[in-house]
Amino acid sequence: MHQIIIIGSGPAGFTAAIYAARAGLEPVLIASSVEPGGELMNTTEVENFPGFPEGIQGPELMEKMQAQAERFGTKVVYDDVTAVELAGDVKRISTGDGSVHEAKSVIFATGSAYRKLGLADEERLSGHGVSWCATCDGFFFREKTIAVIGGGDSAMEEATFLTRFASKVYVVHRREELKASKIMQQRAFDNEKIEFIWNSEVAAIQGETEVTGLTLRSTVDGTEQELPIEGLFIAIGNDPRVHLVHGQLELTEDGTIAVEGRSSKTGIPGVFAAGDVIDPSYRQAITAAASGTVAALDAEHYLAALES
Ligand SMILES: Cc1cc2nc3c(=O)[nH]c(=O)nc-3n(C[C@H](O)[C@H](O)[C@H](O)COP(=O)(O)OP(=O)(O)OC[C@H]3O[C@@H](n4cnc5c(N)ncnc54)[C@H](O)[C@@H]3O)c2cc1C
Repeated sequence: MHQIIIIGSGPAGFTAAIYAARAGLEPVLIASSVEPGGELMNTTEVENFPGFPEGIQGPELMEKMQAQAERFGTKVVYDDVTAVELAGDVKRISTGDGSVHEAKSVIFATGSAYRKLGLADEERLSGHGVSWCATCDGFFFREKTIAVIGGGDSAMEEATFLTRFASKVYVVHRREELKASKIMQQRAFDNEKIEFIWNSEVAAIQGETEVTGLTLRSTVDGTEQELPIEGLFIAIGNDPRVHLVHGQLELTEDGTIAVEGRSSKTGIPGVFAAGDVIDPSYRQAITAAASGTVAALDAEHYLAALES
């Protein structure tokens, strides 16, 4: 039986693994078969992770985190967790190949997924003008014309924040009115760099190597228009990856795994959670990494108490 199994291979999972491995706990990290490395595998330049003054490519940063975790003895399994049994002292983790891995403790670091528009060119141009994170990428759009898709609070917040960099921000919304709170709406309406395009959805994203424009389709009469832009921020929501724990762990009203205070402790002893899957607000690589540290230390204390 393993001391600790970590589910997820983003910054939270690998940081938890580095700490657990250096504590001699020989962690097993289940990385996913299709998208090991987490959300940063979908981006290009990361300029806000400390220690890389020249910036670093997202996939390279994740390779380094993995190498650091493996250097201290983390075993990485390239498979997907398909089911978990968390109650009791022995946690059972099933993977896609039919194996059942047993451990005394588990850390969920499964992250969260930004909702996508579902367009053919969206993934291809991710990191090349298409973004889901204004905090991460706004800086790259100085004096550019960009569009934000969405009508909720986060879309208004992103649009307003992006006016610090961009020369013009279009907010494209499917309806005639916004879902965002009145105060967030007013802030966006008052901002002279923001222009709203109502009753419109994105039919296509243009650009060979970088985004050059959008084809917008009217949700009223289906007519199409071209909108030349250099950046596209998609702000239509975010879903924590919690399907494995439904019915076993408590969730918050934001849909994240509920943890006790600043710790990573869930309602079940020996089960911890870290990173974006517990974070409705910050969702950055560095906050996820820090959260992974907390989870590894909590697990270490839990395991030490079992021994005594
Ligand atoms: C396009 C983009 C650009 C970004 N740029 C930046 C940036 O410049 N700076 C910054 O700080 N942040 C950036 N972020 C945010 C950052 O990527 C996230 O905050 C961070 O990756 C969260 O880390 P995490 O470990 O919690 O989860 P994730 O990185 O989401 O990793 C979770 C992992 O768990 C795996 N997983 C989920 N379920 C299972 C399962 N059942 N079995 C096995 N594995 C599973 C997933 O496949 C994934 O690999 C960006 C995000 C995106 C989408």
